[in-house]
Amino acid sequence: MGGRRRKRKIVLKTKRTPPKVFRCPICEGFPLRLDVEKDGAVIAKCAYCGLTKSFSVAAGSEPIDAYYALLSMLGGENLG
Ligand SMILES: [Zn+2]
Repeated sequence: MGGRRRKRKIVLKTKRTPPKVFRCPICEGFPLRLDVEKDGAVIAKCAYCGLTKSFSVAAGSEPIDAYYALLSMLGGENLG
């Protein structure tokens, strides 16, 4: 007797795509593009001043993490 209760997990994809473009810490131009691979390899490119940096962050990092890593790499906390 009685019905079966099924618990259904509905996973909603509400994940918003995080921004991939930022302001360049060198020239303050826009956009500075950050491409983050799944393994954490990052390529940063500024369309304005031509800054190109490749570095790596922890695997699974988001572009914003890479951006902060870039900021600290470029010299400091006064940049941002
Ligand atoms: Zn720049």
